[in-house]
Amino acid sequence: MQIELADNERKALLTRLLGGKLPDEHGRFGPFGGRYAPETLIPALERLEAGVFKYLPDPEFSAELGRELETWAGRPTPLTHARGLSARWGADVYLKREDMAHTGAHKINNALGQALLAKRLGAQRVIAETGAGQHGVATAAACARVGIPCVVYMGAVDIERQAPNVDRMLQLGAEVVPVESGDRTLRAAIDEAFRAWVADPQGSYYLLGSAVGPHPYPYLVRELQTVIGREARKQMAAMTGGVPDAAIACIGGGSNAIGLFHPFLGDEKVQLIGVEAGGRGTGLGDNSATLATGTPGVLHGCYSLLLQDIDGQIQETHSVSAGLDYPGVGPEHSLLKAIGRVTYTSATDQEALTALQECCAAEGILPALESAHALAGARTWAKDNPGKRILIGLSGRGDKDMPTLSKVLRQ
Ligand SMILES: *Cc1c(COP(=O)(O)O)cnc(C)c1O
Repeated sequence: MQIELADNERKALLTRLLGGKLPDEHGRFGPFGGRYAPETLIPALERLEAGVFKYLPDPEFSAELGRELETWAGRPTPLTHARGLSARWGADVYLKREDMAHTGAHKINNALGQALLAKRLGAQRVIAETGAGQHGVATAAACARVGIPCVVYMGAVDIERQAPNVDRMLQLGAEVVPVESGDRTLRAAIDEAFRAWVADPQGSYYLLGSAVGPHPYPYLVRELQTVIGREARKQMAAMTGGVPDAAIACIGGGSNAIGLFHPFLGDEKVQLIGVEAGGRGTGLGDNSATLATGTPGVLHGCYSLLLQDIDGQIQETHSVSAGLDYPGVGPEHSLLKAIGRVTYTSATDQEALTALQECCAAEGILPALESAHALAGARTWAKDNPGKRILIGLSGRGDKDMPTLSKVLRQ
């Protein structure tokens, strides 16, 4: 079952989104989103919601966040005119360089913003989950900076696979808790982190890593990540005198993409394209292309598209990039798909690897495997749309992927 909306409903939802009216008072983005959480967590989510609406618009809070983003996290990140890729693809390509941000990806924008919020809300400690470890590292760094203890839940399988990131978290002062239950990877780690929060909803702050989860997280994370799109919009205007023909980003949970897209939603002329992980192919369990083939359901506290079977069992997923390997997606992306404002495509493992190598050779930039999916999607789009101006969200750097790359490239 897919959600079908009539033309007038689509238009009305886009108007409400552009007017800042979504999520609505129930935390919904049209049919998606909401708050599906245990009774015991509802008061904590309500306190968080009140805190979000109090502090995000607060000039003192935004001044502190802005200062920290600039002097600690390295913002604004550059916009690079990718001359080599432009020549190869027959397009005019610009890269928004989140790989230049502190800890190597856009994740720091969210982790820092939420750590500051946790401090304002009087939390005694921060709880987080991590899969590949990137969100854990960003959270550990932000919590050290802000001065708040941090506990990171991580699947036992991931702890083994991502040893360097575990060491980085430990160096940055985080406690890393191995999760031995369930699939012993990200999904189990999220369940366990939620459980820890239920046990101590007053003293803990749960720092979620993508634009997913129960309200207000999808909204909060979007607001903290739109700095990417706001900067890019200004930088594009300064360098090219206008907006791009297309803005393209990769989609795991969807935070870097929503951050890049949001400030362009009202520009009808700007095509927005999200690129999911096509993995090994279209077979069951071979990819994590949630928006392409998912169906609506509830996962981790919100109603959105998911990769599930007809009994509602969550499917196995696969991607060469750990950060895209998630069976759900943020509710705002499900809405943007349903109203047709964003087009969602996918790139296979192989296409991403090819694009990664091309970016290294042509630009002297080693992108993260996740970001390489955006590059691959852009490369395909450029072929069908010659001579256009393309803005690509380069969400992170690929140093973390060297073990995977060495293995794959030596095969
Ligand atoms: C985690 C990660 C992603 C995927 O997360 P989103 O929430 O979809 O942005 C993409 N790129 C990099 C570099 C990441 O670390």
